[in-house]
Amino acid sequence: MQTLLAKLQPLVPNVSFAEGTSFFWSPKQKLITYRVAKIPNDRDVWALLHETAHASLNHTQYNSDFELLMLEVAAWEKACEIGTELGLPIDEEHIQNCLDTYRDWVHQRSTCPSCSSTSFQKDPHSYHCHNCQTVWQVSASRFCRPYRLRDTSSKAKALPAPTFM
Ligand SMILES: [Zn+2]
Ligand SMILES: [Zn+2]
Repeated sequence: MQTLLAKLQPLVPNVSFAEGTSFFWSPKQKLITYRVAKIPNDRDVWALLHETAHASLNHTQYNSDFELLMLEVAAWEKACEIGTELGLPIDEEHIQNCLDTYRDWVHQRSTCPSCSSTSFQKDPHSYHCHNCQTVWQVSASRFCRPYRLRDTSSKAKALPAPTFM
């Protein structure tokens, strides 16, 4: 992991890396946190490449879940480029699994809790159903850390956290 960090640092000179409990890019702090596993594994390497890609593409904000999804796609594309340069190719299936998790997450957030219609996002925090006019709140989305606010007043279901955080 240390060897990889040394190779990644020049690609994102203004960004710092810090050990943490998960892989995460914080645009505000210009900080990438990473997790050190007892047994080194490919997934962690890929996650670190992915966060570095977010940082190098300067991903800072998005106004909707769909926009976030587009940024995730872009980050994986960039991560593949970096991986290829460093001789660390990323498994295509892993990428598709990660993106599917995001797509499912967006789909669930955009499904009306009252009538199950697929709806449009009104603003970063709420959706509006054009069929039955229900409005519901969602948590502000964050890179790689999607979750839905538990809302006991509606039939909204909390989603399990995706496995690639
Ligand atoms: Zn509805
Ligand atoms: Zn991401």
